[in-house]
Amino acid sequence: MKTVAFIHRNDTRFAVGDFSPVLSVFSHYELGNTVSPFLLLDHIGPGKLRPSSRQKGVNAHPHRGFETVTLVYTGEIEHRDSSGGGGIIAAGDVQWMTAAKGIVHQEFFSEAFTQQGGRFEMIQLWVNLPAKDKMQDPHYQSITTRDIPVFELPNNDGKVRVIAGQFQDLLGPAQTYTPINVFDAQLNAGQDVTFNADAGHTALIFLRSGRLQLAENEVLEEEAMAVMSSREANIAVHALEDSQFIVLTGEPIQEPINAHGPFIMNTHDEIVQAYEDFKSGQF
Ligand code: MN
Repeated sequence: MKTVAFIHRNDTRFAVGDFSPVLSVFSHYELGNTVSPFLLLDHIGPGKLRPSSRQKGVNAHPHRGFETVTLVYTGEIEHRDSSGGGGIIAAGDVQWMTAAKGIVHQEFFSEAFTQQGGRFEMIQLWVNLPAKDKMQDPHYQSITTRDIPVFELPNNDGKVRVIAGQFQDLLGPAQTYTPINVFDAQLNAGQDVTFNADAGHTALIFLRSGRLQLAENEVLEEEAMAVMSSREANIAVHALEDSQFIVLTGEPIQEPINAHGPFIMNTHDEIVQAYEDFKSGQF
């Protein structure tokens, strides 16, 4: 079994556009390739949106060189992009957006949800692309909740939604560029589950709510993230309280990261090029 390498915890909440509170669970600026192929994780909410007639969210902004994965737990997001694409990400749905060579998009609470108001909770994960795929054409995978297979633990003790990769005999619907597992799990107090994770792969657990015991005696508190050792295989999780958490595992991309804002490339020249391409309207 993998051991806990370290617990990573940020406590400062901030706002991204109208999304608030947002917890930066981790970013590559802090952890670099320690968490590769993952680049960033934001926990948006839980929070409450007051009814409004004004559109609320994050205005048009570009991305290049990686993928953004948005999981909506409660609330509803509407998305529009520079290619004319768009759609609703409802509770339980996942949007896997491959920005690759470039996209400009807006992320808003949906019109219906904004008018009605209510509770919201989302996660946004950024996944790096290998150098050879950073300039592919952008595309989306709209994964609705009914597309996501659910592994039910015996006696209603918990469940694992398989978004990417494989858990037991269930395959996640997301197509990925490198080997990745994304599991969205809940586990009742006192219960155990073991997640598959390869030796040599990065393995992260972010606890949305509850309290977990990992490996031997390490306790993971709410809104903290465990970075597991890349040695050994598999992760043993024991719930000390009813818990909701996300498990991310993946093969590290052994390439340099050169990043600025919404562009994540390998070299400084590629970042300069991204700004030039964006300014000249090539996104
Ligand atoms: Mn974005």
